[in-house]
Amino acid sequence: MGRIEWSGRVVPFPQDVAAAYRTEGLWGTLPIAAEFRAVAEKHAARNAVVTSDGRLTYAELDEWSDQVAAGMVELGLEPGDRVLFQVTNRLLTVVAWYGVLKAGLIPVCTLAVHRAHEIGTIAERTGAVAHLVESGTRGFDLVAFAEEQRAEHPRLRHLLTIGASPESTGTRIEDLGQHLHPDDAREIVDAIQAEIDPDDVAVFQLSGGTTGVPKVIPRLHAEYWYNARAYAEAWGWDETTRNGHLIPLIHNAGIVCGLHGPHSVGGSLILATPDLSEALPLLAASRVTDVLLGHGHYNAVRLPEFDQLAASLRTVVLSGAKVPLPLFERLEELGVWSGQLFGMGEGFFAVTPLDAPREARLTTVGAGLSPADAFEVLTPGTEEPVADGEVGELCCAGPYTLRGYFDAADHNRGAFTSTGLYRTGDLVSVQTFGADRFLSVEGRLKDVINRGGEKINAEEVEVLLLRHPDIINAAVVAMPDERLGERSCAYLVGRGDPLSLPDVQRHLEGLGVAKFKWPERLEWIDEMPKTAVGKIDKKRLHAQIATRVEDERRALA
Ligand code: AMP
Repeated sequence: MGRIEWSGRVVPFPQDVAAAYRTEGLWGTLPIAAEFRAVAEKHAARNAVVTSDGRLTYAELDEWSDQVAAGMVELGLEPGDRVLFQVTNRLLTVVAWYGVLKAGLIPVCTLAVHRAHEIGTIAERTGAVAHLVESGTRGFDLVAFAEEQRAEHPRLRHLLTIGASPESTGTRIEDLGQHLHPDDAREIVDAIQAEIDPDDVAVFQLSGGTTGVPKVIPRLHAEYWYNARAYAEAWGWDETTRNGHLIPLIHNAGIVCGLHGPHSVGGSLILATPDLSEALPLLAASRVTDVLLGHGHYNAVRLPEFDQLAASLRTVVLSGAKVPLPLFERLEELGVWSGQLFGMGEGFFAVTPLDAPREARLTTVGAGLSPADAFEVLTPGTEEPVADGEVGELCCAGPYTLRGYFDAADHNRGAFTSTGLYRTGDLVSVQTFGADRFLSVEGRLKDVINRGGEKINAEEVEVLLLRHPDIINAAVVAMPDERLGERSCAYLVGRGDPLSLPDVQRHLEGLGVAKFKWPERLEWIDEMPKTAVGKIDKKRLHAQIATRVEDERRALA
């Protein structure tokens, strides 16, 4: 079995630790595509994926993705090559995902809303050679964009599309491998899979980052599949599970909870889009048993269409923000069990155990997903544990938590404790319920804004703002928002007349920055408030804007 030559850019799990995870029955010995194949053979006739643009059984998905993989090989793509995924929740997205994995290629999980600034940086950092985009996305031509990116970054030589017309530029996933006999395609895939080391990189996820620019997270075959299987087991899933997913699939939660989770046990993914008016009817018609709702979709339960969905629902998993009591009670009224998920692209998940008491389900995110998860809550900046009930930084390690960011040796030195626990940058407290120790999310240390699940790295945006000649100093902070949880507000010190919000947004658009990162409010000040050690006092700015937003809300009410 061959490993890709990473020249030290990927930090492996220590061999004895990996061996122990296998002895304990946590990690398997196969790459992800081979794990998928084993499930597909066992549950061939069951639906693997259902979307508004079609459905595929396991047998159909397995066969089609074999052909796509073989077609990628014909294009000259080689195992270990990186493929940027910039696609939304479509049937072909799932086919392409497994096709890429089957060809031994590494998907890079970028967002459909990323633009030149992000795609350029990520393409360079991961060394991507192919760019998969979707045709017909509302308001923005991703295919034309991919053409521009290809011209800009010569290494990005393959343009792949889904949903494009036959005359369109690039190679259509729909056409790949179609002339091949399924048996021949399978033979090509099997030969590639036999060479993949299960502890090698399977997927690159992007991190919102704790400091500086966003980082790349290498997820490895065995640990990533284990993450998904453990998630499925936590909710008691099996082949009868119909799991609804409506947030972006090509994201860590999408892949682990939406796709690999149900597929690890032969269940179905009912893949909708984030638009509730389209999603709820599809989920209800498919008699979904389980659904994950991010903060941006908490309001779904108040819609009349949700009642119909509730008829088949067993479990709602809530994630991203504190659970409001009325939401929790509404689900109880509908007879639907709700629990919580706290998770990150870097690995660690906490989930509510199925037998947790009501209070714990409402107020905590539960406990580590795996019996082998280890965590400590430390006083920030130290290695001193805080007492249960006190707030500190969550630091963790375990069978699906990264050992290092990709190609980031310097950053990695500060990202882990001396005992190898990953410093999450999240503030939590431990709440005890009898012998159980559950986590409650209390805030964060990291300088990130969580806009409805999309993370905005404040420092990244500040650097871009400072490229405007009339901006002297910039501090981007979170401001509370009822629907999205947080939006970003920029405190700015300027030269001359203050720029308007559209001026600043146009500046960032000109730099090719994804729209969700543009500040949605500006506050012009003469001077940045400083802390005792001379850093910008962001806590104070955050508190100030939170009060201001609340006062404005009251005045309007
Ligand atoms: P991502 O890697 O994009 O999935 O983001 C992970 C981060 O999202 C975590 O480190 C937390 O800061 C935040 N997060 C995830 N789940 C929750 C939750 N249930 N409540 C509050 N914040 C969360």
